[in-house]
Amino acid sequence: MSEIVVRALSGWGRTAPSTARVLTDPTPASIQQAVRDAGERGVIARGLGRSYGDPAQNAGGLVIDMTRLNRIHCIDAGSGLATVDAGISLDALMQAALPLGLWVPVLPGTRQVTVGGAIAADIHGKNHHLHGSFSQHVRSLDLLTADGEIRTVTPHGEPDLFWATAGGMGLTGIVTQATIRFKKVETARIKADIWRAPDLDGVMAELAATDDKYPYTVAWIDCLSTGRNLGRSVLTCGDFAKLDELPAKVRREPRKFAPLSLGTVPSVPVSGLLNKMTGRVFNEMWFRKAPVRKEGVIQGVGAFFHPLDGIMDWNRIYGPSGFLQWQFVVPFGAEDTLRQIVERISAHGAPAALTVLKRFGAGNSGYLSFPTAGWTLALDFPTNTAGLAELLDGLDEKVLEAGGRLYLAKDSRMRPELLAEMYPRLEAFRKLRAEIDPHQVFMSDQARRLHL
Ligand SMILES: Cc1cc2nc3c(=O)[nH]c(=O)nc-3n(C[C@H](O)[C@H](O)[C@H](O)COP(=O)(O)OP(=O)(O)OC[C@H]3O[C@@H](n4cnc5c(N)ncnc54)[C@H](O)[C@@H]3O)c2cc1C
Repeated sequence: MSEIVVRALSGWGRTAPSTARVLTDPTPASIQQAVRDAGERGVIARGLGRSYGDPAQNAGGLVIDMTRLNRIHCIDAGSGLATVDAGISLDALMQAALPLGLWVPVLPGTRQVTVGGAIAADIHGKNHHLHGSFSQHVRSLDLLTADGEIRTVTPHGEPDLFWATAGGMGLTGIVTQATIRFKKVETARIKADIWRAPDLDGVMAELAATDDKYPYTVAWIDCLSTGRNLGRSVLTCGDFAKLDELPAKVRREPRKFAPLSLGTVPSVPVSGLLNKMTGRVFNEMWFRKAPVRKEGVIQGVGAFFHPLDGIMDWNRIYGPSGFLQWQFVVPFGAEDTLRQIVERISAHGAPAALTVLKRFGAGNSGYLSFPTAGWTLALDFPTNTAGLAELLDGLDEKVLEAGGRLYLAKDSRMRPELLAEMYPRLEAFRKLRAEIDPHQVFMSDQARRLHL
């Protein structure tokens, strides 16, 4: 029997919580019933709440917590295909698939996201430049639409509905199941090259030169340093190690995955632990601890893909006022814009400690899918940073002028009028949504805020 409780919910940034009725133990049948009975505030699915802002919240309405709908129905090592419930986490999926020599095709910076959340945000990983985003590896999905029916949607059978759902932030319906194609791997280890770049131009040149060399690439960049150090970076690039590349000891259990747990961050009662000064110290330490250049480092997948997952609730470090992430992409050719943005952030001194730069490959057919060919930069800021709203409003304009866009899964603050310019297919998305959900049964705080 599914239970409904009243709960305050927020995103990973812990800003703008809102209260909703939450269906905590859904079955496909109880979700169908809930959608049919949705009141005027509507309903939205929620995965593991790893979006930074408010897309998995629905003030005064119903939220379906999908995380207990988490079975693996079948997984086939031969074909590499798995059919799973949408509430399963990529962490659980990864742990089940690795012993079979299969790897989740696209992983974001945390494993703690659900398959439903991965499709709804059309997430990207360190391999976007070669392998695209998550939905490009989805063969089919079961979607519960506003009429209460569950239909199987494929990219070829119903391309419009599929590509509106991929990146559609839960607004076309509730994904109950999906069939995903996995990548085949020999080991659970990465052979990585790690090296430093002295400045922003240096890291951009290095990333551009290594697109074809590594399937997985990322650069951590220091946006708080100034002068000739501006944008100094640590690049971490690699691919899965082959069996014969592992040291003999590890070769005995080549696909073993033993994630390190480094503990839990307790509730921090005050804000302001991360400020301009502590941010600078953190960045300095991060840069210094990286090797000048080291090649062929064998790393576990956890350390390579998700170093922060070892620390539970690390978002609490920002204190009660929370934090936000600002992530944009600008097309190749807009390197000057990227440089100016980094310069402005550095000049402002907004304490961005974990800043990640990457190159995206081509975008896909997703109406609201975020990645397009270009440079993407993601920065975390404490929300109580003085002048942050004005800084980011100005930077939004620069992104827009350069033909870029912000990522909805990270957004908690953008001005709605920018959205249509950033996402040229927004009008088509709205039209399709009006056809399949004329009464806007599927609704979230984000959809209200941005008039999606
Ligand atoms: C530390 C960290 C690192 C991250 N790194 C990356 C990254 O590298 N790349 C990247 O792309 N993203 C990244 N993200 C963002 C994250 O991948 C996305 O926000 C993802 O959508 C979160 O999934 P979730 O299961 O937590 O979904 P939630 O946050 O709970 O929900 C997100 C959206 O998905 C919808 N949704 C959830 N389940 C369903 C369902 N079953 N059916 C329909 N809609 C559904 C919700 O309605 C909502 O609109 C990161 C987040 C964190 C916290």
